[in-house]
Amino acid sequence: MSTNAELIAKAQKAFLPNYRPPAFALARGKGCRVWDVEGNEFLDFSGGIAVLSVGHAHPTLAAAIGEQAATLMHTSNLFYNDKSIELAAALTERTPFDRVYFANSGAEANEALLKLARRWHHEHGRPERTELVTALHSFHGRTMGAMSLTGQPKYQVGMGPIVPGISYVPYNDLEALRAAVGPNTAAVLLETLQGEGGLVVGDDAYLQGARAICDEAGALLFFDEVQTGYGRTGRFLGREHSGVVPDACALAKGMGGGFPIGAIAIGEHLADGLPPGSHASTFGGNPLAGAAGLAVLRIFDEEGLVENAEKVGAHMAEGLRAIADDPAIPAAVEARGLGLLRGVRLADGIDAREVLGLLRDGHELLTSIAGGTVIRLSPPLNVTTADVDEALTRLAAGLREVKA
Ligand SMILES: *Cc1c(COP(=O)(O)O)cnc(C)c1O
Repeated sequence: MSTNAELIAKAQKAFLPNYRPPAFALARGKGCRVWDVEGNEFLDFSGGIAVLSVGHAHPTLAAAIGEQAATLMHTSNLFYNDKSIELAAALTERTPFDRVYFANSGAEANEALLKLARRWHHEHGRPERTELVTALHSFHGRTMGAMSLTGQPKYQVGMGPIVPGISYVPYNDLEALRAAVGPNTAAVLLETLQGEGGLVVGDDAYLQGARAICDEAGALLFFDEVQTGYGRTGRFLGREHSGVVPDACALAKGMGGGFPIGAIAIGEHLADGLPPGSHASTFGGNPLAGAAGLAVLRIFDEEGLVENAEKVGAHMAEGLRAIADDPAIPAAVEARGLGLLRGVRLADGIDAREVLGLLRDGHELLTSIAGGTVIRLSPPLNVTTADVDEALTRLAAGLREVKA
């Protein structure tokens, strides 16, 4: 067995230096807890960045993946396979969408949306409609197209020229959106809650207004539900809060409970947007990912996890509000989020990375940062109120040590 120090020494030589993780290596997880190679335990409220929808090492998911790996792992898109058909059909039953394309990540799902938007208008004799509108402080992924859609210059530094024809508007500002959408707009792409942007909830009126603006202008409306989908906000999709039905949405993070899978789900009217040969993925729609996705949905139903996310999320919201309002905790100034995607915004001038490290090293609580100033909690959707209370106790204790 290797020690943390041995592994970190190897990691620092073998990996590209594009990440800066702390100096231990995780080896095991169960529910909302993880252990490093030396047996140190952490309460994991980073949740794999809102990915671990059913928690670490869920036996139903593990068994489904194991059985499928021993049965049929990959076919390529040259053939249908039973599991991806069943998963696509299940998604169309749970959402207002009619058809599904499978990718392997959130960025790939958004790439597919970008290509679909342009190609659909092209197929309908409107080749001038190539422009995309997204929001400032949005996050849509790291591939060239998804990065170009992302309205945060820091992700694009030194990577240009980016994909042309994309403009960015302030989020939750209908007039700015109205002014940006025109006769050349192919689609507007929005998150229903800006995750990486700092847990900024989209107003219902904003998302409804975006629908009306797109309809009037003949543009498509897409939602990036990579982070907000799959029960994370206490509804199966984030769109359900506003009732808005976009023309298509992107999904990924929680879909496979940790197994890599992404998708776009579209309305029937867009079905001719990607004709045969226009887009593809070798791995996308593989039966192993399909089996994982089906197992996650089965667990959601058996354990009522969307309902749990709403119920336990409301409990978490109260606790976070109490922390933000506590005069003894000046470091935390505002509670934000929905469902089990929540956090506290730190007071100006506080280094969020230092707080993250203090919570991790001093209180064995794993979290993540959103928008540079928000400590984000995105635990598994099967956490209990007791787990949340423990996390909030540790969070409050850590934040009390921070000078505002
Ligand atoms: C994480 C995220 C992505 C990118 O997903 P990857 O799987 O990392 O490519 C895209 N959009 C949103 C809203 C996300 O939160």
